Parts: sequence; C-alpha cells; structure tokens
Amino acid sequence: MPDMTVSNVSFFDTPAASQWMRFLAATPDTVVFLATPEGIIQQWLGASERVTGYTALEAIGQPISIFFPPEDLAKGLDAHELALVHSQGVAECDRWNLRKDGSRFWASGVLTAIRGDDQSVVALCKVMRDKTDVRYQIHNLENKLAAREADLARHRNVATSTAHELRNPLMPMSSAITLLKRPDAARFVDKAMTILENQMSVLKTLIDDLARTAHDPQSAHALMLDRVNLSEAVRAVVDGAMDSAARRGLELSVVLPASDLWIVADAARLQQMLLNLLGNALKYTPRGGRIGMSASVEANMALVRVEDDGVGIAPEVLPHIFELFTREDRQDEIEGLGVGLAIVKEMADLHGGQIEARSPGPGKGSVFGLRLPLARA
Ligand code: ADP
Repeated sequence: MPDMTVSNVSFFDTPAASQWMRFLAATPDTVVFLATPEGIIQQWLGASERVTGYTALEAIGQPISIFFPPEDLAKGLDAHELALVHSQGVAECDRWNLRKDGSRFWASGVLTAIRGDDQSVVALCKVMRDKTDVRYQIHNLENKLAAREADLARHRNVATSTAHELRNPLMPMSSAITLLKRPDAARFVDKAMTILENQMSVLKTLIDDLARTAHDPQSAHALMLDRVNLSEAVRAVVDGAMDSAARRGLELSVVLPASDLWIVADAARLQQMLLNLLGNALKYTPRGGRIGMSASVEANMALVRVEDDGVGIAPEVLPHIFELFTREDRQDEIEGLGVGLAIVKEMADLHGGQIEARSPGPGKGSVFGLRLPLARA
C-alpha cells in the first residue's frame, strides 16, 4: 500500500502519487480515479474507461458530478458526497451512476480523502465496482416477491369477501324456515318459496364466483343482466329480514311505488346489495330502533333507500365508508369485517349505478341510497 501522507499541496506531481497510480492502474474490474479536493478528475485508472465510456482525455478535468443522475444532482447529492468526504474522510456511494452515453450503471464504492502531513485533504480517490447485474437480480427478486405478496393479498381479499357474502343469505333463509314452521304456514308458503329461491340464486352466484376466482383472483365479476322487478326484490329482502328484525326488537317498514318498478340488473347481485344494506341497518341499529326501506324513481334512475335511526356514522369515516376493510373503531363489539359496503359499491358500479351514504353523525342514524338504471318501458 503506498504512503498516503504527502506534504506538497500539488499531490499529483509527487512520487507518492506515481506510486498510487501504478498500484491503482493495475485493477482490471474496478473504476478508480483521483481528483482534486474540489472533485476535479486528475487521474483515470483501472476499469474507468470500460465502465463509464469516458476516455482519460475526456474525463480528466471534469467534476466528479458528471456521474450523478439528474435526480441526484437535483437533491444536491454530489455536493453532499464532497462535504462528507472532507468531514469524515470517506463517503460511501452505492447508487446509480451515469455513463457517457447516458445509460446507467449501479456502482458500489467509496470516495476517500488523501491527507497531507498537516492532515489537510490533498486529493480524493474514488474506487467503485460496477454491480449493475447484481442490482437487477435484486430488483427482479423484489418484483417477484411483491407480485407474490399482491397475489396472496388478492386471494385473501377474495376469500374474506366471499365468506362475508356467503353468510348473508343465512338470515333470510332462516326467516323463511320460521315462516314455514308457523301453524298457519300455508299462508306463507309463497313468500317463503320466493325468499328461498332468491337466496339459492345468490348462493349459486357466490359459489360460481369462488370457483372462478380460485383460478384467477383478478377475474371480474360477471353480471347476468335482465329486466328485474325492483319492487319485488325489495319486498323479498324485507320479508326475509322481518323475523330477524323482530328478534332484535326493531321496527322494519317498507314503502314501494304503486306500480312495479323495472330495472336492468343481475337479480342475484341485486339481492346481494340489498341484503348488505339492510343487514347493516339491522346490525347498527340498537333495540327499539326503526328501519325503513323504500324504492322510488328519482332523476331517471331507480332509487332504493335504506334508512335507520341507529348508531350513525362519524363524519371522518363517511368519505371512506365504501373502501374495503373500513370500520368504525367504536363498533368493535359488533361483528363485521368492513367488506359488505365495498362489495355494494363494486356491484353498483358494475351496474352503472351509484351508492351514497349520509349520516348526521354518531347516534343520529344513517341513510344509504342505491341508484340503478331503469329498464326501458
Ligand atoms: P361490516 O358491517 O362487516 O363491518 P360494511 O362494509 O358493511 O362492513 O360496513 C363498513 C362500516 O360502515 C361498518 O363497520 C360500520 O362502521 C359502518 N356502517 C355500515 N352501515 C352502517 C349503518 N347502517 N349504520 C352505521 N354504520 C354503518
């Protein structure tokens, strides 16, 4: 190792410098150059030309900042590196560098201060190795890991959403069974049949979803669009929830237009949306509360309103209410996943409809409005 301490300010003319040059010129894979304390290149050695594309003639006299990409220059990293080497004696520099042709190479290296007898910095020496291939390997690996993580997250979301949705039909199905167990069951057979048929179609749709997304978690929900009688659909959902509302001590009422209301929808998905909205009203309204569901026409769209005088929604949560896994902290004791409304929003969008939520605040109830396209007469 050559002696690093020299007394002369003109370090590059000293025998110590020639000793350095001979030693450094012999390194075939390493970029090595010497610069003035201000960072102006003076000696161009080792693999410098091969890696950077600059000949010695082109590089000598240039500032070391020529290797810094514009985004690093904008952050002042070149000046920072110089300041660091002057204060600490060494500056690590693992980063992207620019070649003469503008392409980039990842280098791992150090900039070291060479000091004179009086300990002042007389020169700088940069030593770095081209590690672009290793950097790309790491980058590819990171991408693969991120893609795998995203895939797993998608699978988890699909599993969570489907489990949530598979549970919803249980409430109306058990209502139907209650109706059929009544002593006067004969009067309710048609109603119970409608509830069971509707929920069977919801279950079939969900099982199909599950089978499809097991293979491809990114596959879009397929809609089976048809003319659907919205009044009937709302009535069926309310009928299916009556039993549950009664058990919870809630008053459940429904207001429907005098004539049938036809929309274009996937009947099973519509049930899914209505069940989620009504199920939430039941869940988030304490005993003694009132829930109202209605269907009407407003601004050329069908509008389903689900209104309750329950726990309400805090203003800071309201803008995020349709995002997956949004839940109000204060509702930790109520079972839920924060999935249902995200599904309602996705389904409403797929139908070319809209969903909105309003609440005057905690303890003051909530109103959800679902707009869906009307069927042509
Ligand atoms: P979950 O009910 O399973 O948590 P949702 O996506 O259906 O998931 O609802 C998300 C959140 O929105 C709920 O956790 C609750 O905080 C709030 N929320 C939904 N519906 C109502 C409602 N009718 N009244 C008050 N808060 C509600």
